[in-house]
Amino acid sequence: MADETPKAEELMERLDHRSPSTHWMDVPVNIRKGMYCYAANPKSVKYLGLPNARAWNPLDDDWQLPDNWQQILHEGFKERLDKFRSIRIFMDICVRCGACADKCHFFLGTGDPKNMPVLRAELLRSIYRNDFTAMGKLFGRLAGARPMTVDVLKEWWYYLFQCTECRRCSLFCPYGIDTAEITIFGRELLNLLGLNIDWIATPVANCYRTGNHLGIQPHAFKDMIDFFCEDIEEITGIMPEPNFNKKGADILFITPSGDV
Ligand code: SF4
Ligand code: SF4
Repeated sequence: MADETPKAEELMERLDHRSPSTHWMDVPVNIRKGMYCYAANPKSVKYLGLPNARAWNPLDDDWQLPDNWQQILHEGFKERLDKFRSIRIFMDICVRCGACADKCHFFLGTGDPKNMPVLRAELLRSIYRNDFTAMGKLFGRLAGARPMTVDVLKEWWYYLFQCTECRRCSLFCPYGIDTAEITIFGRELLNLLGLNIDWIATPVANCYRTGNHLGIQPHAFKDMIDFFCEDIEEITGIMPEPNFNKKGADILFITPSGDV
Protein backbone atom coordinates (compact mmCIF):
# COMPACT_ATOMS: atom_id res chain seq x y z
CA MET A 1 0.00 0.00 0.00
CA ALA A 2 0.98 3.63 -0.28
CA ASP A 3 3.36 5.12 2.25
CA GLU A 4 1.08 7.42 4.31
CA THR A 5 -1.60 5.14 5.72
CA PRO A 6 -4.18 7.16 7.66
CA LYS A 7 -5.12 6.12 11.17
CA ALA A 8 -8.46 4.32 11.75
CA GLU A 9 -9.82 7.23 13.83
CA GLU A 10 -9.04 9.70 11.02
CA LEU A 11 -10.87 7.48 8.52
CA MET A 12 -13.90 7.20 10.80
CA GLU A 13 -14.07 10.99 11.15
CA ARG A 14 -14.08 11.37 7.37
CA LEU A 15 -16.99 8.96 6.82
CA ASP A 16 -20.15 10.52 5.46
CA HIS A 17 -22.87 8.35 3.94
CA ARG A 18 -25.16 11.23 2.94
CA SER A 19 -25.86 11.83 -0.75
CA PRO A 20 -23.46 14.37 -2.24
CA SER A 21 -24.94 17.47 -3.89
CA THR A 22 -22.68 17.20 -6.96
CA HIS A 23 -23.49 14.80 -9.79
CA TRP A 24 -21.05 11.88 -9.67
CA MET A 25 -19.76 12.60 -13.18
CA ASP A 26 -18.65 16.05 -11.99
CA VAL A 27 -16.64 14.77 -9.04
CA PRO A 28 -13.03 14.44 -10.22
CA VAL A 29 -11.08 11.40 -9.11
CA ASN A 30 -8.87 12.03 -6.11
CA ILE A 31 -6.32 9.24 -5.68
CA ARG A 32 -5.71 9.44 -1.96
CA LYS A 33 -2.54 8.30 -0.27
CA GLY A 34 -3.15 5.18 1.78
CA MET A 35 -6.14 4.27 -0.39
CA TYR A 36 -4.46 2.71 -3.38
CA CYS A 37 -1.97 -0.04 -4.14
CA TYR A 38 1.38 0.60 -5.78
CA ALA A 39 1.62 0.27 -9.54
CA ALA A 40 2.81 -3.13 -10.79
CA ASN A 41 6.55 -3.70 -10.92
CA PRO A 42 7.51 -3.58 -14.62
CA LYS A 43 9.58 -6.77 -14.21
CA SER A 44 6.44 -8.66 -13.14
CA VAL A 45 4.36 -7.16 -15.94
CA LYS A 46 7.01 -8.20 -18.45
CA TYR A 47 7.30 -11.69 -16.94
CA LEU A 48 3.54 -12.19 -17.36
CA GLY A 49 3.68 -11.04 -20.96
CA LEU A 50 1.32 -8.13 -20.29
CA PRO A 51 1.67 -4.98 -22.40
CA ASN A 52 3.26 -1.60 -21.63
CA ALA A 53 5.65 -2.67 -18.86
CA ARG A 54 7.22 0.49 -17.38
CA ALA A 55 7.77 2.15 -14.01
CA TRP A 56 4.85 4.48 -13.29
CA ASN A 57 3.21 6.07 -10.30
CA PRO A 58 -0.58 6.50 -9.86
CA LEU A 59 0.08 9.95 -8.32
CA ASP A 60 1.86 11.16 -11.48
CA ASP A 61 -0.08 13.20 -14.04
CA ASP A 62 1.44 11.20 -16.89
CA TRP A 63 0.71 7.47 -16.69
CA GLN A 64 2.82 6.81 -19.80
CA LEU A 65 -0.04 5.30 -21.77
CA PRO A 66 0.31 4.05 -25.34
CA ASP A 67 -0.51 6.79 -27.90
CA ASN A 68 -3.60 4.90 -29.10
CA TRP A 69 -4.82 3.94 -25.61
CA GLN A 70 -8.44 4.98 -26.31
CA GLN A 71 -8.56 2.78 -29.40
CA ILE A 72 -7.06 -0.15 -27.45
CA LEU A 73 -9.71 0.24 -24.74
CA HIS A 74 -12.56 0.59 -27.22
CA GLU A 75 -11.52 -2.52 -29.13
CA GLY A 76 -10.97 -4.47 -25.89
CA PHE A 77 -14.43 -3.42 -24.68
CA LYS A 78 -16.04 -4.47 -27.96
CA GLU A 79 -14.23 -7.81 -28.05
CA ARG A 80 -15.46 -8.68 -24.56
CA LEU A 81 -19.03 -7.53 -25.23
CA ASP A 82 -19.08 -9.89 -28.21
CA LYS A 83 -17.49 -12.71 -26.23
CA PHE A 84 -19.33 -12.52 -22.88
CA ARG A 85 -23.11 -12.27 -23.08
CA SER A 86 -23.22 -11.74 -19.30
CA ILE A 87 -21.24 -8.51 -19.58
CA ARG A 88 -23.56 -7.09 -22.24
CA ILE A 89 -26.59 -7.99 -20.09
CA PHE A 90 -25.01 -6.50 -16.95
CA MET A 91 -24.34 -3.29 -18.89
CA ASP A 92 -28.00 -3.00 -19.91
CA ILE A 93 -30.28 -4.27 -17.15
CA CYS A 94 -29.36 -2.41 -13.96
CA VAL A 95 -32.41 -0.44 -12.76
CA ARG A 96 -30.38 1.45 -10.12
CA CYS A 97 -32.61 0.19 -7.32
CA GLY A 98 -29.70 0.59 -4.92
CA ALA A 99 -30.19 -2.77 -3.22
CA CYS A 100 -26.48 -3.48 -3.68
CA ALA A 101 -25.29 -0.07 -2.49
CA ASP A 102 -24.77 -0.68 1.20
CA LYS A 103 -23.64 -4.28 0.78
CA CYS A 104 -20.09 -3.41 -0.19
CA HIS A 105 -17.54 -3.15 2.61
CA PHE A 106 -15.57 -0.62 0.55
CA PHE A 107 -18.55 1.75 0.54
CA LEU A 108 -19.32 1.13 4.19
CA GLY A 109 -15.67 1.69 5.07
CA THR A 110 -15.06 4.81 2.97
CA GLY A 111 -18.45 6.46 2.49
CA ASP A 112 -17.34 7.17 -1.08
CA PRO A 113 -20.40 6.84 -3.39
CA LYS A 114 -18.19 5.53 -6.21
CA ASN A 115 -17.54 2.50 -4.02
CA MET A 116 -21.20 1.52 -4.16
CA PRO A 117 -21.33 -1.51 -6.48
CA VAL A 118 -23.99 0.17 -8.63
CA LEU A 119 -21.78 3.22 -9.19
CA ARG A 120 -18.57 1.20 -9.53
CA ALA A 121 -20.26 -0.55 -12.47
CA GLU A 122 -21.70 2.74 -13.72
CA LEU A 123 -18.12 3.99 -14.27
CA LEU A 124 -17.94 1.39 -17.05
CA ARG A 125 -21.58 1.58 -18.14
CA SER A 126 -21.25 5.30 -18.90
CA ILE A 127 -18.53 4.50 -21.46
CA TYR A 128 -20.53 1.53 -22.77
CA ARG A 129 -23.51 3.82 -23.43
CA ASN A 130 -21.30 6.41 -25.10
CA ASP A 131 -19.51 4.00 -27.41
CA PHE A 132 -21.98 1.18 -28.02
CA THR A 133 -25.59 2.38 -27.65
CA ALA A 134 -27.73 4.58 -29.90
CA MET A 135 -29.26 6.41 -26.92
CA GLY A 136 -25.83 7.23 -25.56
CA LYS A 137 -24.58 8.43 -28.92
CA LEU A 138 -27.67 10.60 -29.47
CA PHE A 139 -28.30 12.00 -26.01
CA GLY A 140 -24.89 11.78 -24.32
CA ARG A 141 -24.97 12.66 -20.66
CA LEU A 142 -28.78 12.78 -20.63
CA ALA A 143 -28.67 9.06 -21.36
CA GLY A 144 -25.97 8.46 -18.73
CA ALA A 145 -23.13 8.43 -21.25
CA ARG A 146 -19.75 10.16 -21.18
CA PRO A 147 -16.63 9.93 -23.34
CA MET A 148 -13.46 8.18 -22.25
CA THR A 149 -10.82 10.59 -20.98
CA VAL A 150 -7.62 10.27 -18.95
CA ASP A 151 -9.56 11.35 -15.83
CA VAL A 152 -12.17 8.65 -16.43
CA LEU A 153 -9.40 6.11 -16.91
CA LYS A 154 -7.84 7.13 -13.59
CA GLU A 155 -11.23 6.84 -11.96
CA TRP A 156 -11.60 3.31 -13.37
CA TRP A 157 -8.20 2.32 -12.05
CA TYR A 158 -8.81 3.77 -8.58
CA TYR A 159 -12.25 2.23 -8.04
CA LEU A 160 -11.97 -1.04 -9.97
CA PHE A 161 -9.10 -2.05 -7.71
CA GLN A 162 -11.17 -1.19 -4.61
CA CYS A 163 -13.17 -4.40 -4.96
CA THR A 164 -12.19 -7.76 -3.48
CA GLU A 165 -14.45 -9.63 -5.95
CA CYS A 166 -16.30 -11.03 -2.92
CA ARG A 167 -19.66 -11.02 -4.81
CA ARG A 168 -21.63 -10.04 -1.72
CA CYS A 169 -23.40 -7.32 -3.71
CA SER A 170 -24.55 -9.79 -6.36
CA LEU A 171 -26.41 -11.83 -3.72
CA PHE A 172 -28.69 -8.86 -3.08
CA CYS A 173 -29.25 -7.78 -6.69
CA PRO A 174 -32.76 -8.74 -7.87
CA TYR A 175 -31.34 -9.19 -11.39
CA GLY A 176 -28.30 -11.18 -10.33
CA ILE A 177 -25.89 -8.59 -11.68
CA ASP A 178 -22.43 -9.68 -10.69
CA THR A 179 -20.38 -6.58 -10.00
CA ALA A 180 -17.33 -8.76 -9.36
CA GLU A 181 -17.52 -9.97 -12.95
CA ILE A 182 -17.83 -6.37 -14.08
CA THR A 183 -14.74 -5.27 -12.14
CA ILE A 184 -12.79 -8.27 -13.43
CA PHE A 185 -13.79 -7.20 -16.93
CA GLY A 186 -12.71 -3.62 -16.20
CA ARG A 187 -9.37 -4.77 -14.83
CA GLU A 188 -8.80 -6.81 -17.96
CA LEU A 189 -9.25 -3.62 -19.97
CA LEU A 190 -6.81 -1.79 -17.70
CA ASN A 191 -4.29 -4.58 -18.20
CA LEU A 192 -4.37 -3.88 -21.93
CA LEU A 193 -2.74 -0.54 -21.09
CA GLY A 194 -0.29 -1.90 -18.49
CA LEU A 195 -2.32 -0.56 -15.55
CA ASN A 196 -2.06 -3.33 -13.00
CA ILE A 197 -1.19 -3.15 -9.28
CA ASP A 198 1.81 -4.78 -7.72
CA TRP A 199 -0.27 -6.56 -5.11
CA ILE A 200 -1.60 -8.70 -7.98
CA ALA A 201 1.06 -8.68 -10.70
CA THR A 202 4.07 -9.67 -8.60
CA PRO A 203 2.41 -12.58 -6.70
CA VAL A 204 1.09 -13.91 -10.02
CA ALA A 205 4.54 -13.57 -11.61
CA ASN A 206 5.98 -15.39 -8.56
CA CYS A 207 3.45 -18.21 -9.07
CA TYR A 208 4.48 -18.54 -12.71
CA ARG A 209 8.17 -18.59 -11.77
CA THR A 210 8.28 -20.63 -8.54
CA GLY A 211 4.81 -22.15 -8.06
CA ASN A 212 3.93 -20.01 -5.04
CA HIS A 213 2.87 -16.38 -4.70
CA LEU A 214 5.69 -15.38 -2.34
CA GLY A 215 8.38 -16.59 -4.73
CA ILE A 216 9.86 -18.98 -2.16
CA GLN A 217 12.51 -21.27 -3.62
CA PRO A 218 12.44 -25.08 -2.96
CA HIS A 219 15.46 -25.04 -0.61
CA ALA A 220 13.78 -22.34 1.51
CA PHE A 221 10.66 -24.53 1.79
CA LYS A 222 12.83 -27.41 3.01
CA ASP A 223 14.56 -25.21 5.60
CA MET A 224 11.21 -24.09 6.93
CA ILE A 225 9.82 -27.62 7.20
CA ASP A 226 12.99 -28.60 9.12
CA PHE A 227 12.36 -25.65 11.39
CA PHE A 228 8.73 -26.81 11.94
CA CYS A 229 10.04 -30.27 12.89
CA GLU A 230 12.39 -28.76 15.47
CA ASP A 231 9.43 -26.86 16.94
CA ILE A 232 7.38 -30.07 17.08
CA GLU A 233 10.25 -31.87 18.84
CA GLU A 234 10.58 -29.07 21.37
CA ILE A 235 6.86 -29.21 22.20
CA THR A 236 6.16 -32.97 21.97
CA GLY A 237 9.55 -34.60 22.32
CA ILE A 238 9.01 -36.35 18.98
CA MET A 239 11.15 -35.50 15.99
CA PRO A 240 9.21 -36.12 12.74
CA GLU A 241 11.12 -37.30 9.71
CA PRO A 242 9.65 -35.46 6.75
CA ASN A 243 10.09 -36.70 3.21
CA PHE A 244 10.21 -34.44 0.20
CA ASN A 245 8.80 -35.51 -3.16
CA LYS A 246 8.62 -39.17 -2.03
CA LYS A 247 6.91 -41.45 -4.52
CA GLY A 248 4.09 -43.58 -3.05
CA ALA A 249 3.88 -41.62 0.23
CA ASP A 250 0.70 -42.22 2.32
CA ILE A 251 0.20 -38.56 3.21
CA LEU A 252 0.60 -35.54 0.97
CA PHE A 253 1.24 -32.40 3.00
CA ILE A 254 1.43 -29.12 1.13
CA THR A 255 2.20 -26.11 3.28
CA PRO A 256 0.48 -22.96 2.09
CA SER A 257 3.25 -20.56 1.10
CA GLY A 258 1.69 -17.91 3.31
CA ASP A 259 2.29 -20.13 6.37
CA VAL A 260 6.03 -20.53 5.94
S1 SF4 B 1 -29.02 -4.26 -6.93
FE1 SF4 B 1 -28.68 -4.79 -9.11
S2 SF4 B 1 -30.26 -3.65 -10.23
FE2 SF4 B 1 -30.13 -2.74 -8.18
S3 SF4 B 1 -28.64 -1.05 -8.38
FE3 SF4 B 1 -27.46 -2.83 -7.73
S4 SF4 B 1 -26.72 -3.78 -9.64
FE4 SF4 B 1 -28.41 -2.37 -10.20
S1 SF4 C 1 -17.86 -7.83 -5.20
FE1 SF4 C 1 -16.75 -5.89 -5.06
S2 SF4 C 1 -18.33 -4.31 -5.27
FE2 SF4 C 1 -19.37 -6.22 -4.68
S3 SF4 C 1 -19.51 -6.19 -2.42
FE3 SF4 C 1 -17.65 -7.33 -2.99
S4 SF4 C 1 -16.01 -5.78 -2.94
FE4 SF4 C 1 -17.96 -4.65 -3.06
